[in-house]
Amino acid sequence: MSHTAEIIAVGTELLLGNIVNTNARDISQALSAVGINVFWHTVVGDNPARLRQALDIARRRSDIIITTGGLGPTYDDLTKQTICAAFDRPLVLHSDILDTIRTYFEKNVHTAMPDNNIQQAELPEGCTVFDNPVGTAPGCAFESGGVHVLMLPGPPFEMLTMLRRCAIPYLRRLSSEVIVSHDIMTFGLGESPMEELLREKMSHMENPSLATYAKPSEVRLRATAKAESQEAAEAMLAPVVREVTDFLGNYVYGVDVENLESVCSRLLRQRHWTMATAESCTGGRVAERITALPGASQVYRGGVVSYWTQVKADVLGAPQALLETHGAVSAETARAMAEGARRVTGADIAVSVTGVAGPDPDERGVAVGIVYIGLAAPEGTFCRRCDFGRRRRDRIQDLAANHAFDAVRRYLTGLPVETWTK
Ligand code: ATP
Repeated sequence: MSHTAEIIAVGTELLLGNIVNTNARDISQALSAVGINVFWHTVVGDNPARLRQALDIARRRSDIIITTGGLGPTYDDLTKQTICAAFDRPLVLHSDILDTIRTYFEKNVHTAMPDNNIQQAELPEGCTVFDNPVGTAPGCAFESGGVHVLMLPGPPFEMLTMLRRCAIPYLRRLSSEVIVSHDIMTFGLGESPMEELLREKMSHMENPSLATYAKPSEVRLRATAKAESQEAAEAMLAPVVREVTDFLGNYVYGVDVENLESVCSRLLRQRHWTMATAESCTGGRVAERITALPGASQVYRGGVVSYWTQVKADVLGAPQALLETHGAVSAETARAMAEGARRVTGADIAVSVTGVAGPDPDERGVAVGIVYIGLAAPEGTFCRRCDFGRRRRDRIQDLAANHAFDAVRRYLTGLPVETWTK
């Protein structure tokens, strides 16, 4: 039987626009990966009457209700009490949970547990308890009249931890079918050309299915199979993943990988190589993304944000005459920046970015969206010219950083680096 889920996020801060409802997004993504349809997202403030109304509506149209928020110890945290009243379930005190919360306070907060927190150890009678190893409020799930209600905490890290460890396994058990997905990550081909290329394949596929999810210049293709066991689902997926990756060739940068920078980091590590950066229009985005990865110190030497032309000359050693003749946004400058970063840091390779992020053309009239990526390597220096056209400044910067990583991954996998991609 297929399930229909509704997510109810509880919190006045959400309604006021003070915080973004990232929990609903994360829960939806996780549910979609296990094949559960989410048909509704609801947001209610910390108000028991309106939460009750939302629950009454949700139970009529969904058979899985997942709430997030309002499990804390303060007076406005009323989710549990309101749900128990709506589903006619008494709250009962779990002394083992109370002990866990007391210990959490002693170990992590170094104070005695305030009395307020006692109510966090009260959970609906007969529920499945979801432990919270990174906070105090446990979550839980119970079934009533064919409707499963799952309560998760509000703080995103606590919510995600509980979602992965407890809620998803609980939901998987509701179905005799196993759903398995693999993500084929591609770069350089937009969503429409991708769909056009794959239309024939995608239109015939139901199980396994193939869906596209687009980000700027990247498309994630998710292949999903439903079967009676994990092994059977994997056996159905393997030929599809192989066929699609063969068909798309070099556009594919990985399967079930996080992003371009993690692929670059892995490739560098395999060679015991390091890289460096020299950035102008991206202002350090490339450096920021590589250093966000755990273990970055093994593969990243450092970088220069050479925004001002004189810094390109003084720090990176780009020849003054070259800068004057060709300008700061040029293939020659991109090459000189990359070579400079490689020389200054002693890294095996260096990547550079110089371009016009807009909103105005540069002083020499180079148009908005023109970006050069340089890549200095032991056997020489490469350069890629990109024309992203007139877009938002931050979009151009993100695209430029993506192309810098794509140049690195192409170089490290022996592919041509200089391909011009719109
Ligand atoms: P606590 O024990 O911290 O009170 P709680 O389960 O009661 O946990 P809330 O008080 O509702 O959760 O929210 C705590 C914090 O978690 C909020 O201030 C907000 O920063 C974050 N948060 C809550 N709900 C969401 C949401 N839907 N999306 C993103 N962040 C959220």
